[in-house]
Amino acid sequence: MALLPITLIGDKILRRKTKKITDVDIETVELIKNMFDTMRNANGIGLAANQVGSDKSIIVIDVSVVEEYENIKPIVFINPEIIYRSEEKIIMEEGCLSIPDIRCEVERPKEIVIKFNDTQMKEQKLEASGLLARVTQHEFDHLNGVLFTDLIDQLEKKKLRKPLNRIRTRKLEVTYPVTEDSEYRL
Ligand code: ZN
Repeated sequence: MALLPITLIGDKILRRKTKKITDVDIETVELIKNMFDTMRNANGIGLAANQVGSDKSIIVIDVSVVEEYENIKPIVFINPEIIYRSEEKIIMEEGCLSIPDIRCEVERPKEIVIKFNDTQMKEQKLEASGLLARVTQHEFDHLNGVLFTDLIDQLEKKKLRKPLNRIRTRKLEVTYPVTEDSEYRL
């Protein structure tokens, strides 16, 4: 098991779009394994590759630790694209391993259809609703350099200014490995 340091808000790589990959080589297999280990160690249910410093378009999700979702198997999304978003939106509270200790209510489409490659690079489609749709959209945003704190209203954002600065400057305790202050500044 290998734990990778998780990038925190302020790390530039979280703001850069990830790149689609054309094959799953040994290095990528290793990255996916390490992403699952890193996510589970931090009690997360979703993780995007740029949260561990990689620019690959990869997401791992495992919601089976959540009540009522025990039957949903861990999923790896490679090169994902959301091809349908329901008009109906719902509000749910979200958190993020790259923004520790902060939770906000975020409005997003209730249902989505996502197209992606599996680890054999075979094209797959998945319809998701509820928590799975929520986590998938949150992680998909990461791949495009978007964080959930971008989606909240101005007033909420103002309230977060100080706590977010504490994270950027590492003036908080995190229970899992994170990047050093200067590691991903560029
Ligand atoms: Zn996140």
